[in-house]
Amino acid sequence: MQILLVGAGLSGAVIGRFLAEAGHQCRIIDRRPHIGGNCHTRRDDETGVMMHVYGPHIFHTDDRQVWDYVNRFAEFLPYRNRVKTTVGNKVFSLPINLLTINQFFGKALRPDEARDFIASRADHSITDPVSFEEQALRFVGADLYEAFFKGYTEKQWGCSPRDLPASILKRLPVRFNYDDNYFFHRYQGMPRQGYTQMIQAILDHPGITVELNTDFSPDMSRQADHVFWSGPLDGFFDYRLGRLGYRTLDFERFTYDGDYQGCAVMNYGDRAVPYTRITEHKHFSPWEDHRHSVCYREYSRAAGPDDIPYYPIRLVREKALLEEYLTKARQTRGVTFVGRLGTYRYLDMDVTIRESMDTAQMFLTHLKNGKAIPAFLTDA
Ligand SMILES: Cc1cc2nc3c(=O)[nH]c(=O)nc-3n(C[C@H](O)[C@H](O)[C@H](O)COP(=O)(O)OP(=O)(O)OC[C@H]3O[C@@H](n4cnc5c(N)ncnc54)[C@H](O)[C@@H]3O)c2cc1C
Repeated sequence: MQILLVGAGLSGAVIGRFLAEAGHQCRIIDRRPHIGGNCHTRRDDETGVMMHVYGPHIFHTDDRQVWDYVNRFAEFLPYRNRVKTTVGNKVFSLPINLLTINQFFGKALRPDEARDFIASRADHSITDPVSFEEQALRFVGADLYEAFFKGYTEKQWGCSPRDLPASILKRLPVRFNYDDNYFFHRYQGMPRQGYTQMIQAILDHPGITVELNTDFSPDMSRQADHVFWSGPLDGFFDYRLGRLGYRTLDFERFTYDGDYQGCAVMNYGDRAVPYTRITEHKHFSPWEDHRHSVCYREYSRAAGPDDIPYYPIRLVREKALLEEYLTKARQTRGVTFVGRLGTYRYLDMDVTIRESMDTAQMFLTHLKNGKAIPAFLTDA
């Protein structure tokens, strides 16, 4: 079959590779001048540092098949995400752990003592939390909430934590030991030569052609037997019902002669600091040696029509509009919607790869059984 895949990010690349290996012809287009979608990495012209162009990307998974898959296409080196935060002119360790608690409160508590101490500060008057704020106060009390959640969340989401659902904080967001590894997953790492080289290797198959700087046009789907769409779900329908809300990011680049902050990611919890974090990209490749440094100050705001959509908002308004688009999509023949934009969900890279492999497999099974291909082969 002639398959058209819109988007040369992880979704398009993994599905394309799977189907090309099954003997189909895959044409992958992307409107950007590069492959890799939001995982795109490239060396900075000035400093030679490997840049995570659309924000920091750390690979982590518990899925052995996904881990084997990425290791088939790239050499992964060990990498642990250890984030710091600056609050009130002091630096603390994240996620909140025993070191954070002891430093913040000027104590030397052991794990059980810290657990009792945090429980004593929690707001027990809140029994049925509705908002993110109530949930955080119920878990950790006002001091930790104000320092580590309130300002950062306001900047990140552009609204008060009172207007966000409690479900965002499902569990007690505190560790009562000194583990400061951001992720719990068994497999964690960073591709030595960046994600774009890995995705280039995935795309390197005789059954795949890639066209960059190429926007989708409806006549392209007429030339194809099936389309996989990893662009925005509402964009496929020309935003006819309105736009699904996204947060976008602005990156303010600056260079430094030396080591600017001593770590890859420094959050800024204070509301008075307008950016959410600074990423220093050379620390994503600790096996490389660079004297000069390049950093991004990261600002979050509501995405306008011309901005890159980063994080789906998925609040009440968006959920209602999403339902309307999902209905429209399910009535569309010959197109399957995939990936973070096509299904309007935040997806980590490992989940994107897992869903892409499953989608391609289900597509082949439907074909074999002579069944119509649905608009969604994964949850949307
Ligand atoms: C700031 C940020 C940080 C992240 N950090 C991590 C992390 O640390 N670890 C992790 O596992 N995951 C992380 N992720 C998630 C990761 O970026 C996604 O899992 C991944 O990018 C999803 O790939 P995709 O192919 O579905 O989407 P995308 O990467 O968005 O690719 C979609 C592609 O479609 C193209 N396109 C759209 N519309 C059209 C059109 N009309 N015509 C042609 N082309 C079109 C776009 O140009 C884009 O290249 C992060 C995401 C963000 C936003």
